[in-house]
Amino acid sequence: MKSSYDVVVVGGGPAGSMAAWEAAKGGASVCMLEKDRDIGYPVRCGEAASDLGLRQFVEPKDSWIAKKISGAVIVSPNESKVHVKFANETGYILNRRIFDYDLSRYAANAGAEVYTKAYVKELLKSEETVTGVVVDHLGEEKKISAKIIIGADGLTSRIGRWAGIKTQIRMKDMESCVQYSVSNIDVDPDNMIMYVGENFAPGGYLWVFPKGDKFANIGIGISGKHSKYKSAKAYLDEFMAREFPNAAILTTMCGGVPCAKPIKHPIKNGIMLVGDAAHQVNPMTGGGIVSGMKGGWLAGQVAADAIAKGDYSEKTLIAYPEKLRKDFGKNHERFYKIKEATAALTMDELNSIAENVLKIPFEKRTLASVFKAAVFKKPSLIIDVLKVLSGV
Ligand SMILES: Cc1cc2nc3c(=O)[nH]c(=O)nc-3n(C[C@H](O)[C@H](O)[C@H](O)COP(=O)(O)OP(=O)(O)OC[C@H]3O[C@@H](n4cnc5c(N)ncnc54)[C@H](O)[C@@H]3O)c2cc1C
Repeated sequence: MKSSYDVVVVGGGPAGSMAAWEAAKGGASVCMLEKDRDIGYPVRCGEAASDLGLRQFVEPKDSWIAKKISGAVIVSPNESKVHVKFANETGYILNRRIFDYDLSRYAANAGAEVYTKAYVKELLKSEETVTGVVVDHLGEEKKISAKIIIGADGLTSRIGRWAGIKTQIRMKDMESCVQYSVSNIDVDPDNMIMYVGENFAPGGYLWVFPKGDKFANIGIGISGKHSKYKSAKAYLDEFMAREFPNAAILTTMCGGVPCAKPIKHPIKNGIMLVGDAAHQVNPMTGGGIVSGMKGGWLAGQVAADAIAKGDYSEKTLIAYPEKLRKDFGKNHERFYKIKEATAALTMDELNSIAENVLKIPFEKRTLASVFKAAVFKKPSLIIDVLKVLSGV
């Protein structure tokens, strides 16, 4: 490990690896620091991602894919099952352990240095500019100076806070999650299943994401507003006892998902935040793999350009949030509005939406029809629904 790089990326998740990869491709000297022993492990994710999403950056490899998914089944509070086939799209339940690892290899192959067991414990600053990090690597403390730091250190990002970027999130927008990886269950292998309504998951949803061979990720995310009354784990355990009493629970994980609007200004002089650290998660679905990759991808490019120009100030780095907003930022704001509207629906309203959507013949039923029905109380949001689903 050298004592100086153009770019230091903190965190080796999908957002960090994409940032390191792009910055290295753009000619910068790059070092990526990951605190855990392995990139990609432990997995704290339902592992769902879309083919089109991944394909923006890279051709999906067979080894990344545990199961291809052709549709979704949305289960209403009274257990009506609305089956929607994905139109022109394939979903994947990934093996993130392999996927994340490969992304870090791509960054390394482009010239980035990757270190694990490298915990960043402090930022170095000179006046109003971030100038480096202090890292504990294999028990040894080191100071590394950098022209640009990219904070890809996930939801609990301390890099952002240390730099003085506002990373706070409202309790109601913080999804509290628990997930079991379970085997020995009979589950629809081709569809992702999502249970909605207060009885299953207040302010969120409960998911069953099949990974094939009687194996699945079964998890729940509930709004922080509700988790103080009854924990996410209590909801999930009730569901497991009812639906899958014989399941073998092989892994248990807990985590949070920032289902807020993306941080508008995730930069300061010499620093950018990407991925969960910058709340780059679809607030409606909680999906943050692809959008985090996009955040890292854009930040990596802007970092390489800034290095080439020799200017690492906020004035130059502003290109990053500007590109973000044009890309998925605006859509995430629309998703946030739709989430707010659907979170206010009662169980009866959700049941009647399901009834109405079930009247649409299966071959004509689309995600757009479900979303449009879901915002019936706020017809003005139909425009937002159409925009997010057309990717505008
Ligand atoms: C239960 C659950 C289910 C989910 N399901 C899905 C899903 O199905 N689909 C989807 O798209 N998204 C899902 N998400 C969200 C998704 O996991 C995240 O959005 C995504 O991992 C964000 O990537 P990232 O690179 O920003 O952060 P992370 O993947 O969290 O990576 C951050 C990395 O930074 C490292 N780090 C942190 N601090 C330091 C430090 N000080 N020094 C060095 N390294 C540090 C961490 O060890 C970690 O490896 C889920 C999340 C949870 C919690």
